Parts: sequence; structure tokens; C-alpha cells
Amino acid sequence: MEEKMKFYSLPPLPYSYDALEPYISEEQLGLHHDKHHQSYVTKANTVLEILDKARKEGAELNLSALAKEFSFNIGGHVLHSLFWSNLASANQGGGGEPSGTLGDLLKDEFGSFERFKNEFTKVAVSAEGSGWAALSFCRLTRRPIIMQIEKHNVNVFPDFRIIMVLDVWEHAYYLDYKNERAKFVEAFWSLVNWGEVNKRIEELLK
Ligand code: MN
Repeated sequence: MEEKMKFYSLPPLPYSYDALEPYISEEQLGLHHDKHHQSYVTKANTVLEILDKARKEGAELNLSALAKEFSFNIGGHVLHSLFWSNLASANQGGGGEPSGTLGDLLKDEFGSFERFKNEFTKVAVSAEGSGWAALSFCRLTRRPIIMQIEKHNVNVFPDFRIIMVLDVWEHAYYLDYKNERAKFVEAFWSLVNWGEVNKRIEELLK
């Protein structure tokens, strides 16, 4: 295996930096992707480098601290990667309502899309401090479940898969919305790439 495959890298955004305006500004998106997401990738790789070096030299490691550090940063990397690709500009299919498999699944579980949207919004707005709202899917019960994630702690059970996320850390919206998280959460609904979320659910149902 090539050496570079053993480390993480920042995926490029699937659209231009100004594609999500006016809901997310070019400056906000650039900072979030290029600085914040990049730092999780860099720090996850740093942990791997520390492990590699110590094992090569037979040195002691503070494994508890490293495991915690790795978990935080890899959680950040995974969640941001999902987040960028479950967003899209209006002319690339962002916003509106889901149809197909996902639309049916949400209607079965929540009664209506509106009810789902209200519940997800409440979970996002009420996350304490830094966190995420996530739509996950349990493959045992085949039910969609809304989860709240603290920081980047992706504590999902093995049979759960996250299919849609919303970052509600202040770094996600502060330049555009200051302290008004609810306005950012409302804007999110104009950007959801339902086609992509539907694809993720169809993969799980195969
Ligand atoms: Mn973020």
C-alpha cells in the first residue's frame, strides 16, 4: 500500500465556495472547510504519526489521551465530509422536500415531512454548546432516528448509519448569523441535497 493511503486528506467541496449563498457565505464556507475541517484531518493524521513513530522506536504512548484525540478529530472529519455532500445549491437540487424511498420512509415514521422537519430543527437548535443534529437509520428496525451529537462524538451503535447531518457548532454559522443559530438551521432546509440523502438510504436498504 502506498504511504499516502495510510493518512486522511481533506476532500474538496463538491461545489464552489460561493455556491451556497445567500444561505452560507463564501467567506463562512471557505473558513469552515479550509481551516476547521482541515484541522481535524491534520490532527487525526498527527495521532497516526505519533503511533507510527512510537511503535517503530519502541517508545511509551499515552494511549488514553491519544484515543480521545483521535476520536474527536476523526469524528470531525467524518461528519464534515458527510455534511458537505448532503448540501447543494438550489440549481443543483438543494432544498424542497425528499421524494422516493426517503420521502416514504420519513412519512411512515413521522407522519409527514413537516413533522420530521420540526423535530430535526428542534434537535439542532437545542444542542448544547458545540454539536450536530443527525438523521440516522437503524438497520435492525429499519427506522430512521434523529440523533444529537455532542462535539464530534459519533456514538452510534454498529447497526446505525448516519445519513444526514447538520453542523451547529458556532464556527459553522457565526460569520453569517452571529448568535442566531435558529436562523442558520432554517436556512439549512433550503440547502439539503435530498437526492444524496436518498442515495445513502437506498444503499442501506439494498
Ligand atoms: Mn464544523
